Amino acid sequence: MDARAKEAVRYLGYGRHAVDDHTLALVDSSFVELEEAAGRRIIYRIFDLDFQDDGCIQIGQMNIESRNLGKNMNGCEKAIVLGATLGAQVDMLMRKYALADMARVVTLQACATTILEEYLDDWQGKMEEEMAGEGLYLRPRFSPGYGDFSIGHQEEILRMLDAAKTIGLTMTAGGMLTPMKSVTAVIGLSRIKAPCHIKGCEACEKTDCIYRRYS
Ligand code: SF4
Repeated sequence: MDARAKEAVRYLGYGRHAVDDHTLALVDSSFVELEEAAGRRIIYRIFDLDFQDDGCIQIGQMNIESRNLGKNMNGCEKAIVLGATLGAQVDMLMRKYALADMARVVTLQACATTILEEYLDDWQGKMEEEMAGEGLYLRPRFSPGYGDFSIGHQEEILRMLDAAKTIGLTMTAGGMLTPMKSVTAVIGLSRIKAPCHIKGCEACEKTDCIYRRYS
């Protein structure tokens, strides 16, 4: 099993249990179909970041009340605000199987999440190099809905990025991102170098780090 398949299997919730051949074959063919369907688009902007007296974090005009995010962004002076999507064709692919083959839909979900995370990790690696030239270091990505960072900020982020026009990313009346396989996030930029793990604090070995997302 390659690293990609392992990640998809993890999203499928297998944990340490052995994966059967049928599931593995489903994972492989899902990746093949998704490679055809997935478009990868990202929009980002960099805003000034301020910590206010009441404990709120201000990123551009967005005010965020979040202890978890505040801790992670401690020492940051700017923040990247981003939206990314695999596009509408991935949704169409899932709809195609929705009535007849739920197992495939679930597998496609897991594989699409893997592709989206992979895409963001690659992009983040390039940003790290670019920002290092300006003496700025990236903290891990932090998405609305994560910890106590309210999911309600998603809509504001889409507006800040003009994401509907730039990458076709919007929200349904029910608050779901559309296309479905999409993400919004913020990334703190600091002059203080923390050797952040690309997979985030959960995968980072620096358990005593003061910027760690969760205590
Ligand atoms: S725990 Fe690791 S990934 Fe998280 S902020 Fe600290 S250095 Fe970065």
